[in-house]
Amino acid sequence: MKRDDSLIIAVDFDGTCVEHDYPSVGIEVEGAVDTLRKLVSKGHRIALYTMRSGELLEAAVRWFKERKIELWCVNHNAKQSEWTSSPKLHADIYIDDSALGCPIIYIDGVRRPVVNWAKVRELLEYNGVL
Ligand SMILES: [Mg+2]
Repeated sequence: MKRDDSLIIAVDFDGTCVEHDYPSVGIEVEGAVDTLRKLVSKGHRIALYTMRSGELLEAAVRWFKERKIELWCVNHNAKQSEWTSSPKLHADIYIDDSALGCPIIYIDGVRRPVVNWAKVRELLEYNGVL
């Protein structure tokens, strides 16, 4: 992968951008907003990749809009229909609290871990994405 290209970065919502509080929108996970804004400012494209649907999905989309984080697509990459009929959202990088190998962190009093954005940022920098 050429690191000077604009990458498609799929980002999960619950447990990744916000703490687990589904169907509500949880508290912002530390470092998520800054890192996502920086990715966009570097020209990368953020693809929201979530199981949410309907009004719950709209709440997640609104979360990005309120924080001025531009979403390139939501759960569907229209461009990929040019070369595949696969329903899986194509991205160059996936950031998801449930992904094996994704850095996670446990917060006191919170049952499920969330993405450790400080570590994710280090990995993105190490790999030349940020
Ligand atoms: Mg999740």
